Amino acid sequence: MVKTKRLANQPGNLLIRGGRIIDPSQGINVVGDLFISEGKIAWLSTHQAGPLPENHQVIQARGMVVCPGFIDLHCHLRQPGFEEKETIATGTRAAAKGGFTTVCCMPNTKPPVDKAAAVEYIKSVAAKEGIVRVLPIGCITEGREGSELADFGELSASGAVAFSDDGSPVMDSSIMRSALEYSQESGLPIIDHCEDPTFSQDGVMNEGLVSARLGLKGIPACAEESMVARDIRLARLVGGRLHIAHVSAAGSVELIRSAKEEGIPITAEVTPHHLTLTEEKVVGYNTNAKVNPPLRTAEDVEALISGLKEGVLDAIATDHAPHTGKDKDCDFTTAAFGISGFETALGSLMGLVHRGKLDLVTLISKLTHEPASFLRRSDLGTLKPGAQADVVIFDPNAEWAVNPDEFVSKGKNTPLAGAVLKGKVIATVYGGVVVYMDKAISLK
Ligand SMILES: [Zn+2]
Repeated sequence: MVKTKRLANQPGNLLIRGGRIIDPSQGINVVGDLFISEGKIAWLSTHQAGPLPENHQVIQARGMVVCPGFIDLHCHLRQPGFEEKETIATGTRAAAKGGFTTVCCMPNTKPPVDKAAAVEYIKSVAAKEGIVRVLPIGCITEGREGSELADFGELSASGAVAFSDDGSPVMDSSIMRSALEYSQESGLPIIDHCEDPTFSQDGVMNEGLVSARLGLKGIPACAEESMVARDIRLARLVGGRLHIAHVSAAGSVELIRSAKEEGIPITAEVTPHHLTLTEEKVVGYNTNAKVNPPLRTAEDVEALISGLKEGVLDAIATDHAPHTGKDKDCDFTTAAFGISGFETALGSLMGLVHRGKLDLVTLISKLTHEPASFLRRSDLGTLKPGAQADVVIFDPNAEWAVNPDEFVSKGKNTPLAGAVLKGKVIATVYGGVVVYMDKAISLK
């Protein structure tokens, strides 16, 4: 065996030894070895161990979980236009540190992604400077202004995988109807940021007792629920693939549940912060807990966890939304909305597993197999032999304190600073290349 300490930057032969291999796409959950060759999954010892070539590197994974690389359906990489907040280079490095090997980036950049040229720009920067797969999402409307449909044909031909005006809702119901009609023809999903701004107005946190106590203007759950309800009615009318972004309210979970029971084609995602934190995080006017949709109540959190377990919510997506210190270092009302989420996602979510709220296999499925199914990519989110070798290795029991200064992301905006999380990414492999490795371990 060739021994080397350097990080493999070319796909070679890599043996991940003795970890708990969990792959919901194949119903696998066993201790064994995983062998990667030439950028692809070669074999799992659970099936049949193949021959080991002379030249291979080894990662000892005893006590670790080995699973497909995570897929994030919703993040903000901020490039082009907001490079002071994040770039594709820094964002994909933060993603790799969080265990993500595929990230879908939202189009609220400057310019917004409403033309083929913008999709191509993101793809070309990602190919040169990114270290994981970047799948661009195109705008639903021109300039995200909500009045004219963007050219979906042009955007999808250039590589947009879905459409969204995220950051803003599609208020005009006839525009949303047209978007869903296109979706019905093309099979590409429409991702709606459900928020009726006439309800939410200039609200800055969840509307309720805490907002009243703090004297802050609230955003009622109804601002989300009413638009989820409208979208479901439109999807019932015209079909198409409706996907609800960052569900935050118990009432939305109920609406999505009954739509699914009725057979309406709808999917939905939930963020790690909405699954684990409540509006109480805002107490003290903590601008790092200011996010849209807002952190809500303990009852909402319970409903989101139940919705996830029961399949009402299909995927966990970070809504990674990095900002500069200046964007957050101001009074609560003027601070930007958003949480830098890649690097704390796994640790926060593992808290649900450790507290017995969610089982590990479901958690991994919501980060791998289910988002891959949403993207209709049977080659992703799986450890099937022959698939692209996108793999994450994590220590489910490693405890670590969140220090935003150590974030790879430019966005240090997290409400978890100082929190101790249990569950840590040890290594991330993308296309057979180790793109992230915790400093505590090395290749042998
Ligand atoms: Zn949004």
